[in-house]
Amino acid sequence: MKLEDHIRTIPDHPKPGIMFRDVTTLMAAPEAFAETIRRLAEPYSGKVDAVAGIEARGFIFGAPVAVALGVGFIPLRKPGKLPYATSSVEYELEYGTDALHMHTDACGHPDRVLVIDDLIATGGTALAAIKLLRDAGAVVEHAAFVVDLPDLPGAGRLREAGVEVRALCA
Ligand code: 5GP
Repeated sequence: MKLEDHIRTIPDHPKPGIMFRDVTTLMAAPEAFAETIRRLAEPYSGKVDAVAGIEARGFIFGAPVAVALGVGFIPLRKPGKLPYATSSVEYELEYGTDALHMHTDACGHPDRVLVIDDLIATGGTALAAIKLLRDAGAVVEHAAFVVDLPDLPGAGRLREAGVEVRALCA
């Protein structure tokens, strides 16, 4: 099954010049969505202790991957959302900064955590997630994405940080 056939590209979203990969069409196709979860999870069976998903689309793919692997799910959230004590990391956007938060008791050494998001572009978001998890003591050696934008350096940046990257389509 070609998963990319279920992902549509929206020109000029959220601003002119951006070709936005819209994965809602993939989520809406039950067989393709189930196949996506199977392919994301399969390489990590028995190899990780938890899955961390990045808000918001990383939750939609990450939570079913955690269930498929029989491990827990860690939500990495935007500021102001998590109710308990959090640790956080700031990261650069094209204009300004953003932050990810995680509950302080979400994970620690020696948990092996798989990072999941829908798409990797520059890698800034995923690198921030990895730093947040590693600062808490977790071992992060794997990250998986539905889409890797091939013209952008994100996957290479993660590999330089010692993280093996898998993506289902370009
Ligand atoms: P990065 O930090 O790697 O530059 O950007 C990746 C983050 O931005 C991910 O959390 C992803 O959800 C979001 N993102 C950036 N561009 C796109 C896109 O074209 N489609 C989707 N679905 N998400 C995108």
